[in-house]
Amino acid sequence: GICEILGYTWIDDIYQADLVILNTCAVRENAEEKVFGEIGMLKKIKYRNPNFIFGIAGCMAQEEVVVKRILTTHEHIDFILGTHNIFRLPQIIEQAILSKETIVEIWNKEGDVIENLPSVRDSKLKAWVNIMYGCDKFCTYCIVPYTRGKVRSRLKEDIIKEVEELVVQGYKDITLLGQNVNSYGCDFKDKNYKFWDLLEDVAKTGVPRLRFTTSNPFDWNNKIIDVMVKYQNIMPFIHLPVQSGDEDILLRMNRKMKISDYLNYINYIKQNIPQVAISTDLIVGFPNESNEQFENTLKLYEEVQYDNAYTFIYSKRDGTPAVNFPDEISIETKKQRLQKLNEVVQKYSKLNNEKYIGLELEVLVEGPSKTNPDVLTGYSPQQKVVNFTGHAQAGDLVKVKIMSASRFSLNGKQV
Ligand code: SAH
Ligand code: SF4
Repeated sequence: GICEILGYTWIDDIYQADLVILNTCAVRENAEEKVFGEIGMLKKIKYRNPNFIFGIAGCMAQEEVVVKRILTTHEHIDFILGTHNIFRLPQIIEQAILSKETIVEIWNKEGDVIENLPSVRDSKLKAWVNIMYGCDKFCTYCIVPYTRGKVRSRLKEDIIKEVEELVVQGYKDITLLGQNVNSYGCDFKDKNYKFWDLLEDVAKTGVPRLRFTTSNPFDWNNKIIDVMVKYQNIMPFIHLPVQSGDEDILLRMNRKMKISDYLNYINYIKQNIPQVAISTDLIVGFPNESNEQFENTLKLYEEVQYDNAYTFIYSKRDGTPAVNFPDEISIETKKQRLQKLNEVVQKYSKLNNEKYIGLELEVLVEGPSKTNPDVLTGYSPQQKVVNFTGHAQAGDLVKVKIMSASRFSLNGKQV
């Protein structure tokens, strides 16, 4: 959005670009290595186009080791911009144009929440709305609190105004976004306005479809479900990352939680929201995770029968406490565990999808399917991809009868 205001336009051929900014993620090492691969590749543009400006932004820029590595080995980078000073992008680009040195501007401390920064959305139907930035949880494996800083919640008035404007513009499906939406407002003086209050107020805007992510189960509260029951426009989809099914591992992850409490939450969700879809995140191979502890994760999965899960092998992140935890588990064992877990994930994705065969679901139409123009595609309230035959336009909400299901999608025909 900032770049458009400066007069930049999108271009498909990266080799013709005047400006490239890699907006990076630091959560896992393999994503970082890809960025370094990309940095190497983009050197070629610099040689071809002397006016080319190349910047690195996002969470990787907040890591000291990354900045050092860039400065010693990648002199073709014009600027490195942190996560707390994005609004300074125009000045940084200007400096980069005028200077030959790599400009490094990273703020160690987060400032206030900056409102009204211009943004460009890549969908006309779905929009993400940040409700908070940062995280105070310090799970021992996670780099986010270091790269994103402490929790800063947006004022409810600003959030509601943004959602109202999006609804007027025709947006149909809005996701409230935060590292841990359940701790929304923990930084306010007035501690009485909680995430579920915000959820209710946003639902009242009348947005056709409302979602939220992510929820660390530690601060979960059944009041969220009570609000969801009250408002039909809050979609029956809950992402509740558990990370591990073993209490000792959870303790060492600094996500102390009783599995019985987690299961109580899940049961409350399932009892109160019909046709709900539940997903989670899981890490295998946390330092010295025993086979029995891994089996506890599988056991929990079998019990909850999630619709979907994002599964990861533990990745060491510099500066986090878990880096110093002893770890005797081989990478082969970790890979085998991931594979075993993914088989269970896939089994339940398919079984859960098959439950919808014969039922009618409301689908928000995205348009023709990319692989088959005779078929339309869209999303169910449960966030499941639905491919169907019928006549509808992008943005329509239509009823689709589900005829078959795979682990990735539901297939049906418009009613
Ligand atoms: N705030 C969210 C998670 C954000 S990070 C929450 O607490 O649920 C997204 C996911 O990346 C996490 O849920 C976790 O499963 C994974 N992740 C984070 N750090 C990781 C690491 N060091 N190694 C492997 N996976 C990690
Ligand atoms: Fe990272 Fe999420 Fe834990 Fe925060 S709550 S430290 S973002 S895993």
